[in-house]
Amino acid sequence: MTATMRDAQLTGQMLIAGELVRGSGKEIRAFDPTAGHELEPAYPYGDASHVDAACAAAAAAFADYRATTSEQRARFLEAIADNIDAATDAIAARAVAESGLPQARLTGEVARTTGQLRLFADVLREGSWNGARIDPALPDRKPLPRPDIRQRSIPVGPVAVFGASNFPLAFSVAGGDTASALAAGCPVVVKAHDAHPGTSELVGRAIADAVAAADLPAGTFSLLYGYGPDLGVTLVTDPRIKAVGFTGSRSGGRALVAAAASRPEPIPVYAEMSSINPVFLLDGALESRGADLGRAFVNSLTLGSGQFCTNPGLVIAVDGPGLESFIAAARDAIAQTDATPMLTPAIAHAYAEGVKKFEADAELIVRGKESDSETTCRAALFATDVDHFLKSEALQSEVFGSSSLVVRCTNTAEMRAVADNIEGQLTASIHADESDYDEARQLLPLLELKAGRIIFDGWPTGVEVCHAMVHGGPSPATSDSRTTSVGARAIERFLRPVCYQNAPKSLLPSAIADGNPEHLWRRIDGRLQQD
Ligand code: NAP
Repeated sequence: MTATMRDAQLTGQMLIAGELVRGSGKEIRAFDPTAGHELEPAYPYGDASHVDAACAAAAAAFADYRATTSEQRARFLEAIADNIDAATDAIAARAVAESGLPQARLTGEVARTTGQLRLFADVLREGSWNGARIDPALPDRKPLPRPDIRQRSIPVGPVAVFGASNFPLAFSVAGGDTASALAAGCPVVVKAHDAHPGTSELVGRAIADAVAAADLPAGTFSLLYGYGPDLGVTLVTDPRIKAVGFTGSRSGGRALVAAAASRPEPIPVYAEMSSINPVFLLDGALESRGADLGRAFVNSLTLGSGQFCTNPGLVIAVDGPGLESFIAAARDAIAQTDATPMLTPAIAHAYAEGVKKFEADAELIVRGKESDSETTCRAALFATDVDHFLKSEALQSEVFGSSSLVVRCTNTAEMRAVADNIEGQLTASIHADESDYDEARQLLPLLELKAGRIIFDGWPTGVEVCHAMVHGGPSPATSDSRTTSVGARAIERFLRPVCYQNAPKSLLPSAIADGNPEHLWRRIDGRLQQD
């Protein structure tokens, strides 16, 4: 049986190669964190037979799907975006119920998701993703002639994507991992996150409808429900899967990296995991606008109950009146902050446990307003000194939610010591006036080695989807610091270069054929040109 977006009714079924398939395992239901009850329908888990069916269909689809032109895939991505746009109200309403996040945030997230799909359509049409290079033959070269050598990028094969809990749309079924893999020419099998199965079904149907309308092989896309350590690991270890995209916990990401590495044919796992996003407040900035910075910091800290991988969990500054005014303003703002729903009871429990560890190990500055509900996030701000911070593993760990730690330094050398000793991060921020630029110049090379994105005079929450964005960073921020999971370069994760040596002209792929039929920018003998 098939279902299209025109049937708004949720079915509780998986989508395997265009077919609705009912699982037979444990039934899960979404939980509405605002109302405090479960939502219908039930979503029974799939099992190994469903993984097998989805992977077989993806493998069968690969040859035809990768043979599509850039223009065909661009139109396909745009069709997915159009289908999601057309269903915005239904998708956002279900996502609100399943996540407890505000309507405006989720309507915005729908737009961000469709914007990402359209960005990859642009990437495909622009063409440099092909990585076309031609080193023409040098038959007269001495002592040996050089053969004709050409290179282009091809898709790696079917990709497994794990939807993230904290972005039910932009990092989930049709999120950045799926968009970039489909753009590259890879079929995708998604494992939905249990926190938003209904949103996943609606978005999955938008993709399946676009697959059918474009007459693509049905196995180009499948959506499964199941338990991570069981169905998720079966998916990652299926020999037909060639790469994995993941956003979530450090333990989950590490488990999938280990599973992928233990395969007879190991494959790359692009896992985005854990980051505390240090914010460095330099003296001049603190003196001129400490209180303003304190208030702006709390806005970033409490956004979305702090459930962002870019949440500012660490503030580093030299002690003094400027830092005191920052702390006083932050204390006042947090004290006025209502407790807000968290995505799932498990995430709320993990937050409460994380805050308890900080209470035992650091000075509590302030908590947000109390709440009767156990599934809400009550903001928290702590302080400690550099020596203690550098010795404490607990204080350097991510607490997923609106909790942050101020590290008081006695001088700027101590700030640099923190920068030098922290783990890998998605972001690092510097607030600096012009009088601080000498210090910023010394921090910058340290932070380049630690973070994927360095922000000046801003806050880490809010990630622009564009060509120059890096949402990545050294471990544990991600499992592979050479890439990004947001922005145009995310496509590179699912491509690999192939070299063609002395290939007959009639057999060359069009991206590297003579006469440049695709009008690409190509590197000819080392020089980029559109010949
Ligand atoms: P999670 O527990 O890592 O789950 C993410 C996905 O990975 C789920 O589909 C989960 O499946 C699967 N998974 C988890 N452990 C696995 C394992 N050992 N083997 C195979 N698959 C596994 O993350 P979450 O549910 O989103 O949130 C839990 C915690 O993750 C949060 O409290 C927070 O600390 C962290 N988190 C971080 C970020 C970030 O961007 N840094 C984002 C979201 C969450 P099952 O649910 O079926 O196990």
